[in-house]
Amino acid sequence: MDTLSTSTPGSQSLDTHNGCAANKTDSAGCAPRWTVPEIESLFALPFNDLLFRAQQVHREHQPANAVQLSTLLSIKTGGCSEDCGYCPQAARYHTGVENQPLMEVEDVVAAAKQAREHGATRFCMGAAWRSPKQRDLDKVVAMVKAVRGLGMETCATLGMLKPGQAGQLREAGLDYYNHNIDTAEDNYANIISTRDYADRIDTLEQVRDAGMHVCCGGIVGMGETRTARAKLIAQLANMSPYPESVPINNLVQVPGTPLDGTDKLDPLEFVRTIACARITMPKAMVRLSAGRQELGDAVQALCFMAGANSIFYGEKLLTTGNPDVENDRALFARLGLKPLDPSPGEPAA
Ligand code: SF4
Repeated sequence: MDTLSTSTPGSQSLDTHNGCAANKTDSAGCAPRWTVPEIESLFALPFNDLLFRAQQVHREHQPANAVQLSTLLSIKTGGCSEDCGYCPQAARYHTGVENQPLMEVEDVVAAAKQAREHGATRFCMGAAWRSPKQRDLDKVVAMVKAVRGLGMETCATLGMLKPGQAGQLREAGLDYYNHNIDTAEDNYANIISTRDYADRIDTLEQVRDAGMHVCCGGIVGMGETRTARAKLIAQLANMSPYPESVPINNLVQVPGTPLDGTDKLDPLEFVRTIACARITMPKAMVRLSAGRQELGDAVQALCFMAGANSIFYGEKLLTTGNPDVENDRALFARLGLKPLDPSPGEPAA
């Protein structure tokens, strides 16, 4: 059933779609929850209709004025062997990023404490690796245990995982593993050549099997078409189940990377992408991620209206800038938004 063709936009409850339970996809003998044409139809709605509908879905499934605050710390920076066209940490691009080895556990804990004092409830640890070596993973395991001991939700993004590694992270208390699918499957080779889409799915499956929550999203503004954006959202929304956290990044163009100089995405198209993520993944935390700084306060406000309810906050966002804590606090006060409480240790769906 195409919900778009059976009622006025914004008028229907969106708990289920296509009459399928939320965790059914065609691989389970049921039609995908969302087809690409359906999501393209969402994108094509008049802007106010789309935002109204996204806000309705948001209020049905999420606290209306609460935003989850995550702080992201780069625990190992630069020198990555992969060739992601957007990334200043790839060793092969000359971007001026200073390589830094894996941090010491006590330094990571100190940063997490500081983030907690500033109101962050989730602490994400990011390392620029194709995949972690076992000796490095052992150190990350110690970091995860220590950060969980502070009462924060924990998240890590470490690249592709080998069999058994997801289980070790889960045992240490890791709540979320971030592994973005980046872009639509048929656009993947235009952005990255050192791995393929199936590699991403493989790690995501290991994360699910280990019982962790999945944090998975993508990047827009990489010169892709609107159809490609709809495909990215469809791929995420049709995962079984869809990710608990969905970061939507707006490309930050960094001189020296292949994607520097790409035509900039219309900020209102970015807002539309957020709205489509909210409508198709009602229970997910939809996160404004990289590129938030460039959007400005008014567009960020529209993103919150469109259903974004999570941001990266405080610390540097891996290697690109992030609005400082005071700016965010001021914006939250102007919008009447409150930080969401943490819930570490909740089992994955
Ligand atoms: S995005 Fe991650 S995997 Fe890709 S080059 Fe950057 S650090 Fe490496």
